[in-house]
Amino acid sequence: MENVLATKDLCKKYGKHHILNNVTLDIPKGAIFGLVGRNGAGKTTLMRILTGLAEPTSGTYSIGGIMSNDRKILSVRRRMGSIIESPAIYRNLSAYDNVKLQYINLGMTSYETIPELLELVELSDTGKKKAGKFSLGMRQRLGIAVALCGNPDILILDEPINGLDPQGIIQMREILLRINHEKHTTILISSHILEELSKLATHYAFIEKGEILQTLSSQELMSKVRKASRLKAKSTSLLCPVFDREGIEYKVEDEENMDIYSDITTSKIVALANEAGTEVISVSENNESLEGYFMNLVAMKDGIS
Ligand code: ATP
Repeated sequence: MENVLATKDLCKKYGKHHILNNVTLDIPKGAIFGLVGRNGAGKTTLMRILTGLAEPTSGTYSIGGIMSNDRKILSVRRRMGSIIESPAIYRNLSAYDNVKLQYINLGMTSYETIPELLELVELSDTGKKKAGKFSLGMRQRLGIAVALCGNPDILILDEPINGLDPQGIIQMREILLRINHEKHTTILISSHILEELSKLATHYAFIEKGEILQTLSSQELMSKVRKASRLKAKSTSLLCPVFDREGIEYKVEDEENMDIYSDITTSKIVALANEAGTEVISVSENNESLEGYFMNLVAMKDGIS
């Protein structure tokens, strides 16, 4: 797959502080690329560099195959929309006028696509209401409409879900999925909560203290975060031979507890336990959480650094 955004050994220092260390990323065309890191990990700094708001100390990046040291980078950057930190909107203007102003800034002279854009971000019915009176979610969605003016190929969104209520999060997710599916826009989106990105991201990079800990696709992540049923029984050792015979995948924790990875009903587990001559005490879900997976990665880094 073609990469529309890539970084190579990108470093950023503020004074003596290393904020980004050799960040190398490849963001495929059409991806929803989740950049996941705790507060202060360096997500905003990376996005500021990609959007031209900050210069790297060393290393390079490319947008649409154009290298950062090429003069053409300025023109390809016009194919990129972004919200960094907070949306660039005027609070004393309506949603329509905010978008119109951005059309004017971009030198666009026809405004007939504005209603369609407002419809996409679910702000069609806000009329003359000024953006300053909007909820946080509405302001974020207006920011996305402004970032989408000129139909960019890439959208860079810094924590757009931050502070939204559960309903707002779902609405934002659906809008971003629509943008990605209908406009084929590549989206780079950051969050400090992996769970929030997991319902839309196709790829991930985990960042901590300015370093990329891991990059992987959503399929790879899901296969690492295994679903399991936690079985509590009188004797797990009696169960093992029966489970082996049935081809059931499991991991024994101790004599009373085991995790079962195969898709198997509780009644089947009970029947097999009876056959093995032991008793089931309880069966419950024991999924490794996405957040747990991420925190393990971070803990491993802390262990080595
Ligand atoms: P958050 O979600 O809290 O914004 P983040 O992952 O986006 O976290 P950054 O905003 O990139 O992190 O900040 C990374 C580190 O760089 C932080 O320790 C921050 O204090 C520092 N930093 C960012 N900008 C500057 C600056 N202009 N001068 C000095 N230090 C900075």
